[in-house]
Amino acid sequence: MEIRTVGVVGAGQMGNGIAHVFALAGYEVTLTDVSAEALEKARTLIERNLDRQQSKGAISAEDKEAALARISTTETLTDLGPCDLIIEAATEREAVKTAIFEELVPHLAEHTILTSNTSSISITRLASRTDRPEKFMGFHFMNPVPVMQLVELIRGIATDQPSFDACLAVVEKLGKTAATAEDFPAFIVNRILMPMINEAIYTLYEGVGSVRAIDTSLKLGANHPMGPLELADFIGLDTCLAIMNVLHDGLADTKYRPCPLLTKYVEAGWLGRKTGRGFYDYRGETPVPTR
Ligand code: NAD
Repeated sequence: MEIRTVGVVGAGQMGNGIAHVFALAGYEVTLTDVSAEALEKARTLIERNLDRQQSKGAISAEDKEAALARISTTETLTDLGPCDLIIEAATEREAVKTAIFEELVPHLAEHTILTSNTSSISITRLASRTDRPEKFMGFHFMNPVPVMQLVELIRGIATDQPSFDACLAVVEKLGKTAATAEDFPAFIVNRILMPMINEAIYTLYEGVGSVRAIDTSLKLGANHPMGPLELADFIGLDTCLAIMNVLHDGLADTKYRPCPLLTKYVEAGWLGRKTGRGFYDYRGETPVPTR
């Protein structure tokens, strides 16, 4: 089955990047969000990021204009009904995702493949709440989407081969590389990455090191391009906490216990870069550690 039209649900950090890469690869994209402001911001950001690619010589001015012309936005979820492929990239809360699928499913074409960009929630469980578990998959992009090469493809227990093959062909057309993961909590990348970030937060919580010492240690001592706390702020602390909770609940092992300090930051609304404050304060010229 050839996919030409793509609906993206959620225009946050991930949704705007997903719309960007699909439009640049020639797909017609409809982007939706409950927030008109998020849609506005996404458009501005996509344009700015395309500009950056153009100034680096990665794309031409015509590529940029054509990509922008392929993206339409709507606040009405059901406008996505005719799309060949749906990628849900709304907030990492199961109730939010399930409500989206329940509203959208009666409007979908029979052939439509439904996917979620969830970082951790069970694909099989999400699929079971739809009318098409065999056409349901995890389509997990990394942040920032236009830059990161990997896409994790996750099969639910019922996912059929034609749907998997169609998604794999899409990843190839996007010029990205797929890794296939089985449907267990947080899949591959976050199963490994998030406990490391959580451990870095424990290291801060227990006073072993400061924010700067921890990030410098992993950058210069383990050759990581970003420190774990910097990375947590980049991902979003609400998303990090949600993933740790999925690991803790799904695998029932205390080694996945979310650090209380992570919970406290989320309770404060200090969610990282997207809210201007997290382990660093981003409101000034340069980021300043908050502890
Ligand atoms: P975000 O907070 O930046 O954006 C979420 C967006 O979803 C918001 O704009 C919000 O208005 C919108 N939304 C909420 N409810 C909605 C609804 N009912 N219908 C339509 N839109 C709705 O979050 P994000 O970082 O873009 O994460 C989105 C998804 O991508 C999550 O499932 C997350 O786990 C996953 N993900 C995130 C990262 C990351 O690094 N941030 C990486 C890979 C995957």
